[in-house]
Amino acid sequence: MAALPDLGRPPEIPPSAITNAVALLQSGRLHRYTEAGGAGGPVADLERSFARLIGRRYAVAVNSCGAALFLALRIAGIRPGDPVLMNAFTLGPVPGAVQHAGARPVLVEITEDLTIDMDDLRTKAKASGARVLLMSHMRGHLCDLDALQALCCELGLTLIEDCAHTLGASWNGRPSGSFGLAGCFSFQSSKHVNAGEGGVLVTDDDDIAAQAILHSGSYMLFAQNGTVPPPDVMARWQDTCGNYSMRMGPLVAALALPQLDLLGARVADWNASHDRIAARLTQASSFALPRRPEPEAYAQSSLQFRLPRFSPAQMRAYVDAARASGVWVKWFGAERPDGYNSNPAQWPGSTAQDAPRACAIQATLCDIRLPLGLTTEDCDAIADVLIAASKGAQHVAA
Ligand SMILES: *Cc1c(COP(=O)(O)O)cnc(C)c1O
Repeated sequence: MAALPDLGRPPEIPPSAITNAVALLQSGRLHRYTEAGGAGGPVADLERSFARLIGRRYAVAVNSCGAALFLALRIAGIRPGDPVLMNAFTLGPVPGAVQHAGARPVLVEITEDLTIDMDDLRTKAKASGARVLLMSHMRGHLCDLDALQALCCELGLTLIEDCAHTLGASWNGRPSGSFGLAGCFSFQSSKHVNAGEGGVLVTDDDDIAAQAILHSGSYMLFAQNGTVPPPDVMARWQDTCGNYSMRMGPLVAALALPQLDLLGARVADWNASHDRIAARLTQASSFALPRRPEPEAYAQSSLQFRLPRFSPAQMRAYVDAARASGVWVKWFGAERPDGYNSNPAQWPGSTAQDAPRACAIQATLCDIRLPLGLTTEDCDAIADVLIAASKGAQHVAA
């Protein structure tokens, strides 16, 4: 059998991005602004392109999605001690952004389709008095965003979207990141655009954009940004927004910008691999896959599945067997986080008791990353390993 592909392989940096980055290095102009004036360079270009891509008026480029989430919370009015609602299935930087803002996470349960439980959202919103929902479209699974928007409106909640896994995804034809007051994206290597690190905050709101620009560290050079609110709006905030030094540098933007044009082709590639492997797993007896509703257009650079009847011992045996056969499976229910931490039981400041159903779902939840460029043979070989490992593990003593 041919060797299995490396599932951790990041998206390739296109040659034009490398050329741009080298030119930038040769110029030495690596800081986010030039005091003597200038057009703003690759960061401004990226902001204009990104705002257009998501269909929002403003994009503010920062140094990570976690920084964008923190800024969004801050600007949405979150102050130390405030409660912030968040779904209990996401990555550590999301509760981390809440902690960074000095706020208190209020965890909301998820469904077996890995999206937020709207009934629990209603209950927790009322019980906590929280005014903000930080909604993470974790692993690319979109809830009914029209319904969520209506519910937030009814409950008086400001919606902030974490779109780290949904660049290129949409609900009813509307891009993720265009539903909330702000949407936050990541250019970390394992996401849809690989610039190593980086993040973008998008919004339509003049005041949110102005504060994000100033807080991100624009000094008085914000005219060099790609999308800037009118002068009177900037003047309103200029003297009160502290500089948190979170802006994206031009090297990151130079690497990211040419990749925006590749997004459509990348999404088609990822989804083809995803759908082929998912179809095989759906047929196999031990597996349960989240449902994908019709209005959801996903951009699935990873694949999630559960083995709902497996005990912790069987899950451990399953993961070990798949890895031994060359497919690196992540298990969200592992007692100790392995690589990345996505389970509320493993975040500082929360425990499994804060979201018992989300933890129970994650106890039998796994996923694999999907590198670009998998052949149909690769996909079938991966599915074979995932299924064979389940057949072995179901005989392990529960
Ligand atoms: C990666 C990730 C983030 C944080 O992105 P950074 O750019 O690394 O800060 C936030 N949310 C989710 C769901 C992620 O996977």
